[in-house]
Amino acid sequence: MAHYLLSAEATFSAAHTLPGVTLCDRLHGHDWRVRLTVRVEEDGLGAQGMGVDFRDIERVVKDAVTDFDHQYLNDLEPFQDHAPSAERVARLICGTATDRLRTTAPHAAVQEVEVWELPQYRVVYRP
Ligand SMILES: [Zn+2]
Repeated sequence: MAHYLLSAEATFSAAHTLPGVTLCDRLHGHDWRVRLTVRVEEDGLGAQGMGVDFRDIERVVKDAVTDFDHQYLNDLEPFQDHAPSAERVARLICGTATDRLRTTAPHAAVQEVEVWELPQYRVVYRP
């Protein structure tokens, strides 16, 4: 079915360690980049012809990364039992964004979350 995909981005700075992964098992940091893409069905446009206000998507994705900013990710509760890989960061952000979107824009659904550790390294999580 025809639909619209709308995206907004947020960034955060954080360190992590990935035990057992060459080089990544050393403490290091990234300026992480996150893009949240939401899906709105073609008949879901509002009176202004918009699917979701970009500022609302931006607010959701910024809220979803705020707990990560300037943190050592391994210390955070969600990563106590699982190393904070980009994959797991993306999945966690997806869960938070899905919750927030339910109140901000209930007619929109999370399509995917992209997380860049480096400009050339990206993970895409699709729920
Ligand atoms: Zn890393």
